[in-house]
Amino acid sequence: MKLVEKIKYQVPIKAVFEKLEIKEGALGYFCPYHDDKTGSIMLKETENTFSCSVCKVYGDQIEITKKVKGIEFEEAVNFLAKEFGIEEDKSEGILDDWLSNRDKKETLESVFGKETEGKTSEKDTEIYSYIVENTSLSFIHQTFLEKKGFEEDLIKSLKLTSIEKPHLFVEELKDKFGIEALDNAGLLNRKREFVFQKNNLIIPFFEDGKVVFLAGWDISGGKYEFVFLHHKEMQTFIPQIELKEEVYITGDFRGCFAFLKKGCFSVVPFGNLNSLLKFKDKKIFVCGDKDEKGQQFNRKVIKFFAENGITYTIGGFENCFIDYLDYLTFKRK
Ligand SMILES: [Zn+2]
Repeated sequence: MKLVEKIKYQVPIKAVFEKLEIKEGALGYFCPYHDDKTGSIMLKETENTFSCSVCKVYGDQIEITKKVKGIEFEEAVNFLAKEFGIEEDKSEGILDDWLSNRDKKETLESVFGKETEGKTSEKDTEIYSYIVENTSLSFIHQTFLEKKGFEEDLIKSLKLTSIEKPHLFVEELKDKFGIEALDNAGLLNRKREFVFQKNNLIIPFFEDGKVVFLAGWDISGGKYEFVFLHHKEMQTFIPQIELKEEVYITGDFRGCFAFLKKGCFSVVPFGNLNSLLKFKDKKIFVCGDKDEKGQQFNRKVIKFFAENGITYTIGGFENCFIDYLDYLTFKRK
C-alpha cells in the first residue's frame, strides 16, 4: 500500500490535530483557515477528516498538516510518515492485489486500511474457539438468515453466531485472555476497541476442526458489509458440511452462500490460497463471476492450481443453477 493511503487509513485525525498542537475551544478545534474565536472545526474520526462549520473548509490529515506547517503535499506526507512511524509497503503481494481488486461494497474500509499479517497462533485459535462456543445466534440474525433462504441445518453447520453485547463480551475476553492476546488475535482496532459490533453476524473459518479466523457480516442499514480480523493472514472459508466430490471455488461470501444454499460444497479463498490444496483430488470448479473482478479472481486461482499441478474446470454454475442468471438471482437473495 502506498504511503499516502496508509496515512489516510492508519493515522487518526485526532492524533494529527494533537501533534500539530491545534487548540480546542468550547465547540471544537480552532480553525487555522479563518480567524476563529470559538473553535469551529469538527472531526469525523471514522473517516479521518475534518470540516469547519464557518468557512466550510474540509480536508484530511495531510491537508491540515500542509496548512498549519505551511508546507507542500509531499513534505506533509513525509512529516506525518515520520511522526507516526508509517512506512511504504514495497511488496505487491497477491493479497494486496486481491484486496485492491475486490468490490469495495463487500469489504469494510478496515480491510483496505489495515495490515493483514501474521499467522494464526494456538492462542488465537483458543480465543476464536472461545468466542464461537460462548456466543449464540441472535434472533435478529436468525431471522435475517431465514429470510435469505438459509435452512436451519445449514445455519447450524456453519456455526454462525452473534455477539449480543460486544462491549461486555470484550471485557470478559480481556479478563480471560489479556488485552495483548486479543490484540495479537486481531480482535481490537487501533483504538483497542472490539472489531466486532452488535450488528455483526460472526462467521467462523475452520481448519482441521479448529477456528482459525473470524469474519463479521454487518447486516445493519442494508449495507451488508464484511468485517475481517484486521491483522491476521486472510484464510479460506471452508464450510463445516460434508465434503462432496465437487468443490466450487467462489470469489466472495455471497457466491459461496448461494452455492451452499443449493446444497453444493463451496469455499472462498481470501488471500492465502494454500488451503485449496486439500481439494486436489476433488472435481474442482473455479467460479469467479463473469465480470472483470471475477475474471481476475479466476486467473489468480488458476495460476495457483497450475503451479501446483491441480486439475480444475472453469465455471460449472450450471451444475447447481439453471444458468448464470439463476446463480446471480440466488446470490443476491
Ligand atoms: Zn474555518
